[in-house]
Amino acid sequence: MPALGTPDYNPSVRDRLLGVISKTWGYSSFRPLQEEAMTAVLTGRDSVVIMPTGGGKSLCYAAPALLADGVTVVVSPLISLMKDQVDALRANGAPAAMMNSSQSSTAQHAVERELLAGRIKLLFASPERLMVPSFRALLQQAGARSFAVDEAHCISHWGHDFRPEYRQLGALREHFPTASIHAYTATATRQVRRDIVEQLALRDPLLLVGDFDRANLVYRILPRRDEWKQVVEVLERHRGESGIIYCIRRKDVDALAAQLAKRGYSVRAYHAGMTSEERHAAQEDFAKERCDVVVATVAFGMGIDRSNVRFVLHTAMPKSIEHYQQETGRAGRDGLEAECVLLYSAADVVAWKSMLGRGEEAVDATYVESAMRHVVDIDRYCSGTACRHRALVEYFGQPWTSESCGACDVCLGETEEVTDALTVAQKILSCVYRLGQSFGIGHVISVLRGEDIDRIRDRGHDRLSTYALMKGASKNEIRDLIWQLVGQGYLEQTESEYPVLRLTPAARSVLRGEAEVRLRQPIAPTKKVDDRRKRRAASATLDGNYDAALFDVLRKWRRAEADERGVPPYIIFSDRTLRDIARVRPETLTQLREVYGIGDAKLEAFGAAVVEIVKGNELPSL
Ligand code: ADP
Ligand code: ZN
Repeated sequence: MPALGTPDYNPSVRDRLLGVISKTWGYSSFRPLQEEAMTAVLTGRDSVVIMPTGGGKSLCYAAPALLADGVTVVVSPLISLMKDQVDALRANGAPAAMMNSSQSSTAQHAVERELLAGRIKLLFASPERLMVPSFRALLQQAGARSFAVDEAHCISHWGHDFRPEYRQLGALREHFPTASIHAYTATATRQVRRDIVEQLALRDPLLLVGDFDRANLVYRILPRRDEWKQVVEVLERHRGESGIIYCIRRKDVDALAAQLAKRGYSVRAYHAGMTSEERHAAQEDFAKERCDVVVATVAFGMGIDRSNVRFVLHTAMPKSIEHYQQETGRAGRDGLEAECVLLYSAADVVAWKSMLGRGEEAVDATYVESAMRHVVDIDRYCSGTACRHRALVEYFGQPWTSESCGACDVCLGETEEVTDALTVAQKILSCVYRLGQSFGIGHVISVLRGEDIDRIRDRGHDRLSTYALMKGASKNEIRDLIWQLVGQGYLEQTESEYPVLRLTPAARSVLRGEAEVRLRQPIAPTKKVDDRRKRRAASATLDGNYDAALFDVLRKWRRAEADERGVPPYIIFSDRTLRDIARVRPETLTQLREVYGIGDAKLEAFGAAVVEIVKGNELPSL
């Protein structure tokens, strides 16, 4: 595969591209690698574009499609995703359409006619649809010049989201030998990359790998102590803002959503066990800002284009770094600060491994092997003590050069290393040993804390040398330390009906004082940390000071417009655009056209209304 290439520099192509992104989307510059990616489409060179979620992949094929002759076919995995993408493009005045099984045949015929009349530049279709010979004939007749394969990692077994129907895309090259093929994904491991090139039979593709760091996200990985309390803390920090809470199991989703609703939070549940109507309703409510928070399993996400998600909270460890990256990537797509919190316990690792081991979701042996490796990788990430931004970026094969990111629990100094970790580990391990390796975690904790209770006295455990060795420590603190030792392979929990803690062979090196044990514990956040966080937040946002009252008025107006048109609010304007308006306070259409995210179509549709709001909203000097 060729190294990152420099496309032939052609100022007129650049200007034309900039012209179209300003006119249609109201953006004034390229995001990193967009220019190269767009040029590849225009010059018909195959490409693989890897950018993190929110990096701006869709513009890479949409902008050149508007400039080129012929039709660009976008292959997209989900019909719901397709509809939103097409709606958003049309709202900007771009000639886009889709062809899929959810449409009536009348609607399909209408699209066919438009297509043959040359009035459609971007056509969205599912991979299955591309395998239908009559549809391919139609594309040939309409002059399909390039194919954009979105979420291209779905083609690979090694990816985390393999979809068998994507495999059939391998036939595209044969059917459309003169068209160029472009693959887009946020999954960057080498194996997946190679697989994409091979499966799609790409010819000398231009490889573009974006910067994986999402500087506007603050990552926190906290030991899970009191889940409910920790969840509420995050929600309270983000009152009135939008967020997604991920749980592993459906029943956890239902329970948490119900509990939160009872406490008065505006939430919806979402998981694959609900009917498709229920799921659709939840998704719509979230997209249309009729609720703030969705509690969901991994099933929720693809097709969520709400750009103002301010937090993503994982109540347990997801099963791969790829999942984590993708799910946290749904926060802060507007480039403004957002927070990603993961409540971690080494118990999650045990749970995932046993789920995979039991073959509950196994497809085949290769899948299990690859899935196990993914679990080990994310466990290492969560229990690691390196900067979260750095660890993620390095996992995706990129170098990291700065000292501190200033935006993760590690760099913000929210956790610290236990100074005498070896001694602490020895206390815990010897207690497990003295208890004959036949008691569960709760009892081990009680003994270490020196609790004066029947269950201990009756067994004479108050006479053990390890009794009360950790007096003064809370249950949660000890539990967390024990799970860290499980995670590091010094202890294990049996899978019996009453699970007990046992030493592993590696425990011996700790007891002999020969192992290098590292443990972390949270420290209370100090004021200093908060200040640093705020400073960083300010630098991550490009909009500086804006008029919050005006922003609120604009948001209400947007909501009403969206309801009236039956579209999600972000299709009208993004939060970022509204904040920009609230900062600049444009009083003429010319001034408004300069604002981020306002192209010709939006200016015509909403310009007058927005200017009126700005003028009518002269608040006393702030
Ligand atoms: P991805 O598909 O890579 O996750 P999107 O294509 O959805 O990302 O883009 C994320 C957001 O960034 C969208 O709101 C998009 O309109 C915006 N965006 C894309 N390119 C630019 C640009 N050049 N300037 C400003 N905003 C952009
Ligand atoms: Zn960091």
